[in-house]
Amino acid sequence: MQDAKEIWNIALKTLEKEVTAVSFDLWIKSLEPIDLKNNVLYLSTTSETAKNRVLKLHEQSIRYAIKSANEDIVDFKILDPDETTKYKSSEQESKVVSSSPICKFNEKFTFDNFVVGNSNKYVYAAARGVAENPVTKINPLYIYGGVGLGKTHLLHAIGNYLSKTRPDLKVMYVTCNKFTNDYIDCMANKDKIGAIASFRNKYTNVDVLMVDDIQFISKKTSTQEEFFNVFNELYQNNKQIIIASDRAPKEIETLEDRLRSRFSMGLIQDIQFPDYETRFAILQKKAQQEHYNIDEDVIDYIATNSNSNIREMEGVLCKVVFYANLSGKTHATMDDVAEALKDQVISEKKSITSDKIIVAVCKYFNISKDDLIGKKKNKEIVEPRQIAMYLICDMMDLPLTSIGDIFGGRDHTTVIHAREKILNAIKDSNRMRVTIDDIKNTIEHAQ
Ligand code: ADP
Ligand code: MG
Repeated sequence: MQDAKEIWNIALKTLEKEVTAVSFDLWIKSLEPIDLKNNVLYLSTTSETAKNRVLKLHEQSIRYAIKSANEDIVDFKILDPDETTKYKSSEQESKVVSSSPICKFNEKFTFDNFVVGNSNKYVYAAARGVAENPVTKINPLYIYGGVGLGKTHLLHAIGNYLSKTRPDLKVMYVTCNKFTNDYIDCMANKDKIGAIASFRNKYTNVDVLMVDDIQFISKKTSTQEEFFNVFNELYQNNKQIIIASDRAPKEIETLEDRLRSRFSMGLIQDIQFPDYETRFAILQKKAQQEHYNIDEDVIDYIATNSNSNIREMEGVLCKVVFYANLSGKTHATMDDVAEALKDQVISEKKSITSDKIIVAVCKYFNISKDDLIGKKKNKEIVEPRQIAMYLICDMMDLPLTSIGDIFGGRDHTTVIHAREKILNAIKDSNRMRVTIDDIKNTIEHAQ
């Protein structure tokens, strides 16, 4: 993850364009990034007055600019000089005493703030069950589902709940990347044996260990081995383990079988994309939480038109409010939606071409382009062809007839059929969703 400075520098570029030059020089430039902790960016300013002015005039703009710089940032705080001094000294203290792996959790990610619907009621119940009865009920708990569907939110909710109800427990949250980097650091240490012992101690001397985004452990053989050891030690000592991933254990390529079977010992629970009502309720809750003043039409529009992830939906909400504020309004309406989404649609879609999509699909399935757009009817070709059609519909703004043309002059009804087939498959099988996500990823990164 980028550090506070890097994120702030990117945010400044957005702010420079969005606020007046005077405001930028006077208020925005006075802010200094001092820390990034638990996905909250801390900025210091020169006086209490400056803090109040900045918040009054530019809170939404700053929030938007930071979100655009890094969508994982959940909040920012501006500290006046007194608060900055206090913050820095308490950080110093906690660095000195904190060999204990107690984590602070994002206070916005609680069970209360989690909207429950059909898509996530089981995973919610499982997370809640573990939080109320760690170890005794479900161990390990393995949560999986697509990007931005609330996995990290639930892990933090468990953490928040336990810090309140069971302050005696040591609860640790770690991303797979952090775990891996820690391990790599200790392998590089001169005193390797000592370093590994202290690494193991750090991760096993807890009552609850949560590891987020475990899919990134694939391909890292020695980290897998170490995680296996940590897992066993915790499990044997009756400690709770909670894992989140974007895919089921059986879909993580190159995951060692013994780890896969460990993950399957408890409960594996998936989280799905929420239905319209739940999406609406989530947006409403977010608007309340952030004190956004927003028309129901707008919430309806965003809930209706989003089809991939909640984080993205929240990004749109934040952008719409930002545009309303830019034009001096305290209330966001459908006019702001049009304004806010104008650039987004164009800039996202213009660099993706049908050719890029076709190349990515061919590469993924290891088939030739001639076969993909040709006439062959065997299953090994038909499904990739339908996936390519689906992706072109989803990622580009093309008329159905033009898509038919790309595939050797097929009728537009064939394209509709392909799209529906893949959409249903995504709903029914996690495997299809993962395939689509993987291909989309390669297309987006090929830009
Ligand atoms: P993931 O870890 O699955 O990629 P996150 O947990 O980071 O996703 O969630 C993305 C955003 O969506 C967060 O801001 C989170 O609060 C929000 N979110 C997801 N699901 C819900 C829900 N059911 N209710 C409220 N907010 C949600
Ligand atoms: Mg996450």
